[in-house]
Amino acid sequence: MIYLDPAALLPVIGNVWHRARLAQVPAPGQAITMLCGQTAETAFETLARRSSHGASTQCPDCDLVYRREQGLVVRPNHPGLVPRPQRTTPMS
Ligand SMILES: [Zn+2]
Repeated sequence: MIYLDPAALLPVIGNVWHRARLAQVPAPGQAITMLCGQTAETAFETLARRSSHGASTQCPDCDLVYRREQGLVVRPNHPGLVPRPQRTTPMS
């Protein structure tokens, strides 16, 4: 048995890590929706495998939603506040 904290899971799509509201650890293959609205199927990989895609960056849209929910400071220059076209991100 392996115990995982759903609140500590940060889904990675490509080389960008997101946040999601997870009531429980998702099953492999289960689709989950990030705070920013992107959806992807769950797969579990090692940290080394993730790192092979290059340095991960934080999704500014997920961070903005998370900060507002948690009552954290959102600076005026937060990248999630900058309007931009919807990004397309590969699912792998
Ligand atoms: Zn996101």
